[in-house]
Amino acid sequence: MPVYEYECKSCGEKFERKRGIAESDSKVKCPKCGAKEPRRVFSAFARGPSSFSGGSCAPGRPT
Ligand SMILES: [Zn+2]
Repeated sequence: MPVYEYECKSCGEKFERKRGIAESDSKVKCPKCGAKEPRRVFSAFARGPSSFSGGSCAPGRPT
């Protein structure tokens, strides 16, 4: 099952969700503030190891 990365439009929280193909983005909610329909982030396209240091889903986590 693919994992998608999302960014909350309300609070800016970034998180990852496993999502089946049949499921829609509308079911995804921000784990922090509960806002619906976060923006989907295409992490593989937007950033690579050289342009982003740190974890992909837990801001502030020491590496
Ligand atoms: Zn949020």
